[in-house]
Amino acid sequence: MSASNPAAPTVPGTPFFHYADGHLRVEGLALADLAREHGTPLFVYSQAALLAALGAYQRALQGRAALICYAVKANPNLALLQTLVQAGCGLDIVSGGELQRALHSGVAPERIVFSGVGKTRAEMRQALQAGIGCFNVESLPEIEVLNLEALSLGRQAPLSLRVNPDVDARTHPYISTGLKSNKFGIAHTEALGAYRRAASLPGLRIVGIDCHIGSQITDSAPYLDALERVLDLVAALQAAGIALEHLDLGGGLGITYLDECPPAADALFAAVLQRMEARGFGNLKLLLEPGRSLVGNAGVCLTEALYLKPGLAKNFLIVDAGMNDLPRPALYQAYHAIVPLQLRPAQAVQCYEVVGPVCESGDWIGHDRLLAVQPGDWLAVCSAGAYCTSMASNYNSRGRAAEVLVSGSNARLIRRRETLADQLGPELGL
Ligand SMILES: *Cc1c(COP(=O)(O)O)cnc(C)c1O
Repeated sequence: MSASNPAAPTVPGTPFFHYADGHLRVEGLALADLAREHGTPLFVYSQAALLAALGAYQRALQGRAALICYAVKANPNLALLQTLVQAGCGLDIVSGGELQRALHSGVAPERIVFSGVGKTRAEMRQALQAGIGCFNVESLPEIEVLNLEALSLGRQAPLSLRVNPDVDARTHPYISTGLKSNKFGIAHTEALGAYRRAASLPGLRIVGIDCHIGSQITDSAPYLDALERVLDLVAALQAAGIALEHLDLGGGLGITYLDECPPAADALFAAVLQRMEARGFGNLKLLLEPGRSLVGNAGVCLTEALYLKPGLAKNFLIVDAGMNDLPRPALYQAYHAIVPLQLRPAQAVQCYEVVGPVCESGDWIGHDRLLAVQPGDWLAVCSAGAYCTSMASNYNSRGRAAEVLVSGSNARLIRRRETLADQLGPELGL
């Protein structure tokens, strides 16, 4: 590598963001042109990256009874939902708000599954009236409430019980959900009794079983372990005269933020289907609820370098995106690669603490990053498609960022930047 011509950094996990002549591009467009036109912070998604990630799932499931229900909470932007729904996805929702978004996307209601540990009666009624495909129920009291709400509407609620297979997904404790110490799901040992109770209630129709063991899983073993445990239950239910139509293995497949090597979706779920067949459950429909692995590496957040601030202990690089736009570092100490839109000579490289403008010491985007950057340069925070905009806030009265979806050489604004009027709208003053 020559000093004046440094090797281009890479954008992890995707070939759809790449350098050409020292400038970072997405598909057929220069990201700098999008930053100039729309301002920063700006989230930019590659439609090709999104559809390629979905394609890996679809290849594995081709020709099988299966449904991919994208987990809306990973990124609920309506245009992204529409893109995935038009490409064949159902949707996994966790609130009444996500139900409204899902219905707005044009998805067939029977392709919606409703997950979550704390559904309210009002949310249950909305979903029953919409005619969703399945309620993923997480506790005995929720079974009782769902039955009553269904009866009061003169309907039957399609039900699956989320069981807790008690396997360790070996991920961050905040995003591990399949251990018996977690708040999620019904214990494996109590599942049979819970199904018997549900089967006795006239407002419920048992359709499936589900589990979701965590997020950012980079290993196949926890999936295959969970599958075996859930298939044991399916067999026990069958013996008890309770037939199921589907098995839902949840989401959770990891992506590459730095150097992680998660299994490819096609290989992993081909192995899952093979195992189901080997155990005599080849006819059971397979549902999956991927979120991060569909959108995570398909998006970046563009930000402007505002100030270089040499400090006594660290050099700070202050950028215009903060923890309200990119909450994962503050929330999970998460790593996001940060790369320049325009490469500069390697002599200019310095080590920076990359921080946002929000008034919190926890407002950092990256520690100890080697970057050649000048004030006014643009940077891309990589792998920002999942759990960034969906967890964004107006903290410090900052408007939420704009979002652009790129396909080839076309860029479409899919969410305009929030204005102060958007923020003040609900406030009533004195
Ligand atoms: C969050 C969640 C998902 C999606 O998880 P990813 O890690 O984004 O794939 C799927 N199912 C349930 C029940 C969830 O809570």
